[in-house]
Formats: sequence, C-alpha cells, structure tokens
Amino acid sequence: MIFRQLFDSESSTYTYLIGDEATRQAVLIDPVLEQADRDLKLVAELDLTLTHVLDTHVHADHITASGVLRERTRATVVGSVGGAGCADVQVRHGDEVRVGQLVFRVLATPGHTDDSISYLLGDRVFTGDALLVRGNGRTDFQNGNARQLYESLTRVLFSLPDETLVYPAHDYQGRTVTSIAEEKRHNPRVAGRSEAEFIHVMENLHLPKPRKLDVAVPANRACGQLPHPEA
Ligand code: FE
Repeated sequence: MIFRQLFDSESSTYTYLIGDEATRQAVLIDPVLEQADRDLKLVAELDLTLTHVLDTHVHADHITASGVLRERTRATVVGSVGGAGCADVQVRHGDEVRVGQLVFRVLATPGHTDDSISYLLGDRVFTGDALLVRGNGRTDFQNGNARQLYESLTRVLFSLPDETLVYPAHDYQGRTVTSIAEEKRHNPRVAGRSEAEFIHVMENLHLPKPRKLDVAVPANRACGQLPHPEA
C-alpha cells in the first residue's frame, strides 16, 4: 500500500493519499481545494491514478477539492448519506468502497455532524473530526449532537482493535497519528468519562464560530463548486 499524509496549514487539515500497489489506483481522503494542484502532482509522481475522492463529512472550516478533482480526473466522489448531495456515491454504515485491492469499510460515526463517517482500511481508520488526537470535533453546529458523538466514540470506534491506527482530519498541535488504545486511555474528553460528563464538557466549550462556516458548508454540499453568483 502507498500511504501519504498531507497537511494544509491554513485549516490544519490532513489529507490522505492511499494507493493500491497492484493496480496503481488511488484515493484522496478529505482533500482541500487550495491544495488540489499539490495533491494531483503527487498522484502523478507516484504513478497513480486517482479513482476515488472520499470526504468524511461536509466540512465547515475549509472547502473540499472533491468537485475540482472529479472534473480533472473523473474520479468518483464518495460521501455519506445525508451529506453532500453532489457525491456520485452515497455510503452508509457497513458499506465498502473498493479501490483496486484496497477495501475501505464505512463506519457511521455521527455527532460532530450528522453525516460524519469514518473509513476503516485494515489496521487504520480515518476518523474525520469524530475522533482527533486527544480530542474530538465540536458538536455545536451542522446538527451536531454530543450524545451521538459519545456513542460513536465509545461504541463504534473504541470497539476496533486497540492497535488500530487513528488518522484524524485535523491536528492543531503537530500530532499526526494516534491509536485506539491511546485514545481509550488518554483522550481527556472520553477516557473515564460518563456520557453525562462528556455532554457537559461539549456543551460548555463556548468556541467561536468557524471563520468559513457560512461559505464552506453550502460550497461543500456542492463538492466545493458553487455556481458563480454572476452566472
Ligand atoms: Fe469538521
């Protein structure tokens, strides 16, 4: 397997390029619009063909490159049922996305947003904003729900094998990867916390509204390609 973790410093977003060595087919997970050229250059340099673009949810903090990448490569855009209507394939819990010989299993992990999904690929899981390194996504907009997120974390993600590597959609402190075992033990929001305690913490974060919320959410429902207002 070919595996690369890419970073957008403006939104602190991780994008993942994963390729199948046998067929050279590849997928990008959570690509950022402004980094589309960088990502396509790497795809070409590694002699890969981009066949799929996966978003873990409709993002509020950056605009997805999925639409642009689809236009430029004819890749299939995959999103969650109830997420972006522009996706070519809408997946739900238990579905599989096959990229060459790689099989991504879809796990519904709602709570940060109602459309949040994670993708399990063998011994690694791409968790979007559901589970971050020592944290988790906020639950105060886009139909977020702290109770749902607690369930997604403790019943869905924490039921994966302890050694599963967790690759999140963001980190703001330079951390790149964690594991299910580490988060079970050390995630300050969840480890040793009851559902009620978790909900109390999430309801009292008082975070500022994301800068791009009003632009990014409608744009991402259209795979990052809103019609120009003058058109
Ligand atoms: Fe998010």
